[in-house]
Amino acid sequence: AKESGKNTFQFYTAHLQERSSRKMELENGLRKALEQNQLLLHYQPQVDLQSGEIIGVEALVRWIHKEHGFISPAEFIPLAEETGLIVPLGKWVLKEACSQMKSWHDQGFAKIPIAVNISVRQIQDDHFVDSVKRTLKEVGLEPTYLELEITESVMQNIEKSTLILKQLKELGLKVSIDDFGTGYSSLSYLKHLPIDNIKIDKSFVDDIIYHINQGVMVKTIIDMGINLGFNVIAEGIETKEQVNFLKENACMVGQGYFFSRPLTADKLEELFKSGQ
Ligand code: C2E
Ligand code: CA
Ligand code: CA
Ligand code: CA
Repeated sequence: AKESGKNTFQFYTAHLQERSSRKMELENGLRKALEQNQLLLHYQPQVDLQSGEIIGVEALVRWIHKEHGFISPAEFIPLAEETGLIVPLGKWVLKEACSQMKSWHDQGFAKIPIAVNISVRQIQDDHFVDSVKRTLKEVGLEPTYLELEITESVMQNIEKSTLILKQLKELGLKVSIDDFGTGYSSLSYLKHLPIDNIKIDKSFVDDIIYHINQGVMVKTIIDMGINLGFNVIAEGIETKEQVNFLKENACMVGQGYFFSRPLTADKLEELFKSGQ
């Protein structure tokens, strides 16, 4: 028994070391990737559920590592948040996304907004509002075509967040609550925060098909969102059944593999050109 305990311990230590060395390697790699322009953005369409038209696009960051290949943002974003690298990384994402949308506008494609994910750590950086303002100016994108996606975790510091969101809204841009319903926060904050859209998390949208006569949560969120005056966007739509349910329940906008996976800028441009 003693022997096996020791083995377990050694295994555990080795496992931890492996994990932390991958972490260190990724951390250094990420810093380099940022300096050497090895990150890129993919773009996922947001679709008007009634007309099928593309009415917006969400930018999602990608990292193709020289040795490890594709690394998911679900892995490196938390790491970037932990190390503070999210601030320069987020700046790069914002600028790249805004320039791309500006270029699409200039090429005569439909004037639609670009949605950009923002971590709490970025929002709470003292220079965030100025930095957004400067980026929009440099790029020449009208603020009304920028939507910042934040999560309910900003509620941890509700007073500071409200202040910053108000300043951002004064610039003329839009704010969305991402992954809505997963953040364990009280609903009462919704009344006080200056936000425009709520994005219903994929886990609720999944429920529509797994419990066919049970999309109660989704229906409730849609009704509440509409009653409070927000646009409601459903995320992670994969099936026709989900689309039908959402349409029947007055959800206006959807996003998900059913319509399109996130695409490279070139591929999205082809989609625009093909008249959608
Ligand atoms: P998110 O903002 O909730 O983005 C939606 C995620 O769901 C994306 O994963 C997207 O590719 C995926 N998705 C979209 N439709 C479907 C669908 O129909 N089925 C399934 N199974 N998945 C779908 P991705 O690109 O891997 O990003 C994961 C998360 O990483 C994002 O979740 C976001 O929280 C974070 N992230 C991505 N890019 C950025 C960024 O530039 N900055 C920050 N701060 N976070 C980012
Ligand atoms: Ca998002
Ligand atoms: Ca989301
Ligand atoms: Ca998410």
